[in-house]
Amino acid sequence: MKLNGFYDDLKDSYLFHTVAVKTAGYKEKHPDADIIKLGIGDVTRPLPEACVKAMKVACDEQLTVEGFRGYGPYEGFDFLRTAISGYYASRGTKVAAHEIYVSDGAKSDIGNILDLFDRDNTVLVPDPVYPVYVDTNVMCGRRVIYAGANEKNGFLPMPDRAADADLIYICSPNNPTGAAYTREALGEWVRYAAEKGAVILYDAAYEAFITDGSLARSIYEIDGSRACCIEFCSFSKNAGFTGERCGWCVLPDELVIGGKKLADMWLRRQSTRYNGAPYVIQRGAEAALSAEGQTQIAVNLGYYKKNADVIGACLDRLGIYYTGGVNSPYIWMKCPDGLGSWEFFDLLLDKCRVVGTPGEGFGACGKGYFRLTSFNTHEKTAEAADRIGKYFG
Ligand code: PLP
Repeated sequence: MKLNGFYDDLKDSYLFHTVAVKTAGYKEKHPDADIIKLGIGDVTRPLPEACVKAMKVACDEQLTVEGFRGYGPYEGFDFLRTAISGYYASRGTKVAAHEIYVSDGAKSDIGNILDLFDRDNTVLVPDPVYPVYVDTNVMCGRRVIYAGANEKNGFLPMPDRAADADLIYICSPNNPTGAAYTREALGEWVRYAAEKGAVILYDAAYEAFITDGSLARSIYEIDGSRACCIEFCSFSKNAGFTGERCGWCVLPDELVIGGKKLADMWLRRQSTRYNGAPYVIQRGAEAALSAEGQTQIAVNLGYYKKNADVIGACLDRLGIYYTGGVNSPYIWMKCPDGLGSWEFFDLLLDKCRVVGTPGEGFGACGKGYFRLTSFNTHEKTAEAADRIGKYFG
């Protein structure tokens, strides 16, 4: 018996563990230190009331013979697929309900979609990167190459025609950099993918944070994208469903490779390995897309945005370079005074009692950078910004 040897090629991710150990060590030495966490990667605002109400109704339905639901459709209930299609349509983007596949979240889909592609394909990921893109490919032995993100390209790498890639990951607005592509830039990526016969795996998990009208909220706003792009999205970051688990991916009708429609392969895959997202959760997700749900979501997103504004204003005052914060819950800052990511982590903890995430944990191009998030409370975020402003000012 042989194990999957590719697991030996995975790099251990010590990032969040090391952050936790260092923070705990500091707290032990300074038990009274009032530490503020600006490294939080999860949403913190409670669920929209509309979603909770809908889930309660759906729960009660299960008490009756007529309302009871057993296994649902593999691809999601029609009511939710139609609501998601309407969500795209409300922004003028055409995605038909039958092209939408509901799941338990974007992370699962992003990993599972790889079942459709041969191991011999080359994968292009941005650096710094959401680690799931790399690890899911390393686990099956696929070659990974990197598109370097840096200050010169505003942490938004563009295609290099000398590099051949079969699968291309794009995350916009990006985790960890918060940077987001314009429609023109995404148009270049779509043209590159079409030229190379590649497929773009487009992660739109943070699209709801976009406020700037020149930025695309879906890859399907871009001409030619329906023939070469799969989009992943989620109810985690907009409706706060990180605990409820619901997301979707889109496989358009035009996405056909070697005569095979990828949507057919995906349905075959899902119907073999997956039994669908829970009915009650899908009713909650449907409510998130209702007018009432969208209004309540806007309040939560506004809350995070206000925090991001406070952090951004502090960095502006200090003259520190950063990306994100405007169309994203993430702020990706350059470590001041040429400090390394971990050096800055230690200094920030020691002098300001603020915890963030060292950029180099997200890839080599993250060296010398640092990620802050807007998921703490107004009070704590303002206090953290005040401390940072005073120490580095
Ligand atoms: N994509 C990105 C870029 C993320 O940062 C995350 C979660 O943090 C996900 C996807 C996962 O989303 P979900 O909760 O829907 O699995």
